[in-house]
Amino acid sequence: MPSQYRTIPAIHRLLERESLRRAVERHGRPPVIAACRRAVDRLRRRIANGAVDDAASRDATSAIEAEALSILAETTRPAYRGVVNATGVLIHTNLGRSPLSTEGLDGLESYLALELDLATGRRGQRLAPLRQRIAELCGAHSAVMVNNNAAALLLILSALASGRQVIVSRGQLIEIGGSFRLPEVMAASGCRLVEVGCTNRTHLADYERALTDETGAILVAHQSNFRIVGFTTEPAISELAALARRAGVPLIVDQGSGCLHDLGRWGLPPEPTVQGLLAEGADLVCFSGDKLLGGPQAGIVVGAAEWVEPLGRHPLYRALRPDKTALVMMDRVLAAHRSGRLEEIPLYAMMSAPLDALARRARRLASRLRRAGVPARDRALRAALGGGTTPEETMPSHGLAVAGGQALADALRGGEPPVIGRLVEDEVLLDLRTVRPTEDHTLERALVEAQSRLSDLQASGR
Ligand SMILES: *Cc1c(COP(=O)(O)O)cnc(C)c1O
Repeated sequence: MPSQYRTIPAIHRLLERESLRRAVERHGRPPVIAACRRAVDRLRRRIANGAVDDAASRDATSAIEAEALSILAETTRPAYRGVVNATGVLIHTNLGRSPLSTEGLDGLESYLALELDLATGRRGQRLAPLRQRIAELCGAHSAVMVNNNAAALLLILSALASGRQVIVSRGQLIEIGGSFRLPEVMAASGCRLVEVGCTNRTHLADYERALTDETGAILVAHQSNFRIVGFTTEPAISELAALARRAGVPLIVDQGSGCLHDLGRWGLPPEPTVQGLLAEGADLVCFSGDKLLGGPQAGIVVGAAEWVEPLGRHPLYRALRPDKTALVMMDRVLAAHRSGRLEEIPLYAMMSAPLDALARRARRLASRLRRAGVPARDRALRAALGGGTTPEETMPSHGLAVAGGQALADALRGGEPPVIGRLVEDEVLLDLRTVRPTEDHTLERALVEAQSRLSDLQASGR
């Protein structure tokens, strides 16, 4: 057995070291002991592999101490880390979809009149204060909010069409990232999917022929994250609404994005709006809270009272209801939409940033970076909405192109804070449309640090 094992200190001895004593005060004993054990295990493995010579083993305690502290730093930092999104994808599902502003949010630190009617002192309903506001904003009679749009659809189908048939066009059997698959949600809600038409073409007559006594609803799902182009047709919402009304069943539209505005204002192609779909005759429209609404994760259903009210009384609603954080944040976001002060919503502030302002920031950053030895230049780029909205369309943007390939992309992602860019050929592209102006300095520092770590690695020949 190599003699180096004898130099490994006991855990209780390690805990007498000043730095680890302070770590115990800060994080408690269990995580510090776990980190020490892991550091000791690693050293044992290195000794077993013959990777530790006598000289190195003489200072085993210091080596373990340093390693334990670095393990501890990793295991005690926030589980979800803030990142700089320089991908240029505004609604980035892997980065939490829409960014949120929590500045000055009342009611989250204090207690909250969540289920208390302050006028009467009686028990209130948690959705009651928000319902009317959502409905009014969308031009609907009634509204319900749940945890996400998948939950909204599950609730609608369970409450209104369980055990019955639901007619859907074959061109709309969508899968959205994160394992939302329409046929599976339908199966889970206990309704039977009746597919009509073809992938590219479905006619009103196809729906008409599929109607039976067993029909519980007609469902239209927005083709959020793909387009079928070329020889295509789908009946208008108004035609389907008239058909549904004759059959006495609801027309449900899964709108998805929560678009309330004409996207032409931001140079993007139009997306059907929630209000527009209701005006065309949809009985229920459901959508996500954290896509184009720019709010917290949520699913919202708006529509006619006769169809929407039963959703709030269904037992599933209790399981799917939103938490107070989402309700408070949603109220704030709805107010910004209502007042037209969209710039208060981070997503819209980013969408609305003038191109020349982005270009100015990019040029300034590029020249500062070059002076610091980072091979950066400013470059015109295209940003995308993402998150299953306008899949092919992009908006003009500006940012940085930095030579350095995968190694640089990895170094940026491994930095503090992590910076996420896009690797195209051998350059890392950093789009400023998704970077807040207040983050420019952070981005600059992250690039300088990443570059210097890369240079150190190259210098040490690894
Ligand atoms: C995004 C999307 C969903 C899923 O919404 P979640 O809020 O992620 O549950 C469902 N349907 C459509 C059409 C969507 O665009």
